[in-house]
Amino acid sequence: MSLPLIEYGRQGKTVDAFPILDAHAHVHFMAGSDVLPLEDQVREMDRCGINVMTVSSILALAADFARGNDLVADAARRFPGRFLGYCHVSAVYPERMLPELERCFANPIFRGIKVYQVGPMYDCPAYDAVWAFAKAHRAPVLAHTWGGNLTGFDKAAEKNPDVNFLAGHAGSGFAYQPYIDAALRLPNFYLDLTYSREHTNMIETMVEAVGPDQIVWGSDAPTFSMTHQLGKVLFARISDVAKRKILGETAARVLGIDLKA
Ligand SMILES: [Zn+2]
Repeated sequence: MSLPLIEYGRQGKTVDAFPILDAHAHVHFMAGSDVLPLEDQVREMDRCGINVMTVSSILALAADFARGNDLVADAARRFPGRFLGYCHVSAVYPERMLPELERCFANPIFRGIKVYQVGPMYDCPAYDAVWAFAKAHRAPVLAHTWGGNLTGFDKAAEKNPDVNFLAGHAGSGFAYQPYIDAALRLPNFYLDLTYSREHTNMIETMVEAVGPDQIVWGSDAPTFSMTHQLGKVLFARISDVAKRKILGETAARVLGIDLKA
């Protein structure tokens, strides 16, 4: 008989009651400096009960997207079934976005697209090709957002109702109302709880307002600890049904992953 999910947190037990899908994590900190070697990352996934991580490479986000995307493919090859990928493209190099997406998606381990707003806002025309590619490939798009500033991501979601948009760090910076408002307005807009400041009642408020079918979870490993990120959901005052959806079922549906396979 499985325990109430809060007990896995209280007792520090591996969550083996259902498969966990991490919808926002990373591999490789920067070129040549593995803060967490992949072997250790997988060992920690096993300890927590995280079956699959969908990752982008921090190297890709920081500097070299092509080499970073190759590192994601490499991680998936070395640990079959444990890592799936987000292909990262940058609007700073608009002419290279589409070729890089084509190159990545030739490999079936890439299931989504990761964007990180450093210059152009998400609703600028440079991203239109990305949304069109996402629609054609049924790939969700995960974006870095922060502090309640959606930087055009909700506008892009509104213009592209056939694409699923995952708003990273929803609720970070103690500002979660803009995320809730966008999710209520747009059924293709998802809240990603990754390292969102877990101040009292944030998850409870989001679940009550939006429902767990529009909320996904990620650890942000290796930049943050898997246990800490997992704990905030296990200890939240929401139903176990909602916890299971947030920790895997919703993301599996959006990313097209059969967790039992
Ligand atoms: Zn991240």
